[in-house]
Amino acid sequence: MTTRPAGHNITRVISKELLDILACPLCKSDLKPEGEKLLCTNAACGCRYGVQDDIPNMLIDEAERPCPKCGKQRKWEPETDSVSCPACGERFAWQRGKAAKA
Ligand SMILES: [Zn+2]
Ligand SMILES: [Zn+2]
Repeated sequence: MTTRPAGHNITRVISKELLDILACPLCKSDLKPEGEKLLCTNAACGCRYGVQDDIPNMLIDEAERPCPKCGKQRKWEPETDSVSCPACGERFAWQRGKAAKA
């Protein structure tokens, strides 16, 4: 049996302080809560990070990357620096965070 309240919302478990520290590992933009996920505020990036057991999952491999144009889910491919949507062919120019190593 669960004690989790019905109105479970990410903002109840992710504190403002934690949000201030967290940044998108891809583009280093701020994150904002959206539903039960954390959404990158950079529209060109649009990564969504899940929250499991009240802990944000910031693994790029497991992030959702919905296409801003058609909304179809696409997977992040680490090999390519430019990202294209397999569904609508839209290409995205986005930059890896400058602070990222190699
Ligand atoms: Zn991002
Ligand atoms: Zn698309």
